[in-house]
Amino acid sequence: MALHIGVDVGGTKVLAAAVSETGEVLRTARRSTPGRRVSVSLVEDALTEAVSEVAGGLPVDGVGIAAAGFVDADGERVMFAPHLPWRGEEVRARLAARWGTVVALDNDANCAARAEHAHGAARGARDAVIVTLGTGIGGALVLDGRVHRGRNGMAGEFGHMQVVPDGQVCECGGTGCWEQYSSGNALVRYSRARVGVEPTLLTAMCSGNPELLVGAMVTAAAEQGDLVASEAFDSVGDWLGVGLANLVAAFDPEVVVIGGGVSAAGDRLLDPARAALARSLVGVGHRVVPELRRARLGPEAGVVGAADLVRQAQALR
Ligand SMILES: [Zn+2]
Repeated sequence: MALHIGVDVGGTKVLAAAVSETGEVLRTARRSTPGRRVSVSLVEDALTEAVSEVAGGLPVDGVGIAAAGFVDADGERVMFAPHLPWRGEEVRARLAARWGTVVALDNDANCAARAEHAHGAARGARDAVIVTLGTGIGGALVLDGRVHRGRNGMAGEFGHMQVVPDGQVCECGGTGCWEQYSSGNALVRYSRARVGVEPTLLTAMCSGNPELLVGAMVTAAAEQGDLVASEAFDSVGDWLGVGLANLVAAFDPEVVVIGGGVSAAGDRLLDPARAALARSLVGVGHRVVPELRRARLGPEAGVVGAADLVRQAQALR
């Protein structure tokens, strides 16, 4: 049987997995990401270790890399990765030479979208918008059945669309970016501002120190019926729907898939998003509003999509 491996190179960890043709994760291996102030070869060593552990001595037919960073339009180089030392590095060719096998490369959001489209929540859709709510907002587009990468390979950076003129300052240097209002960070910021102001379970959870508040606490408090935590989800969900109305107006997809850590809240997040989408979208009443679905593949979407990517690259050779 042909062995295809997907590797997700994130900010804190490297996850490698052998993945079947139907998207099933067969075995995995993990390493820590060495950081961004180290040599490129040290990162390659971590990837090599993870890949050989997954291979377990069997010949490898191809390795797909899902990198947390900007990958050029040809899928050859990582132009920039905030948590890794790759700066315009020819990652695909270097790893192919080192491993003596076919290597394919794309960014992690595109790989996750590929996986959701092939095996998950966007399966069978011709056009889909995939939005990942983590610390910030990541995203990807499927157009005419293919992941749309754009001129620079940077399509799908939805988190930095401006939704509030002169709004919150963003790490990107802009103001009022969507991810400042709808993300894990936004959830925490909303909640922190209310600790000590209103009665809430969050005060005890963070020992009265708003700085200690994290997203998981807001989720737990909301599950226990806490009003402040529920309002935080209402706010993040509402802004999610407002931004999605812009994306749906632009791309008219069949389905919108919401993934990432914050999406674990399910309908607590998606119901206000659905309401805001129905309220904000142009032409409601005269069009089919796309379904909002939770992503299905979870944290393994990146490795599954990366393995699919190299399988396809190999088929084209
Ligand atoms: Zn921004």
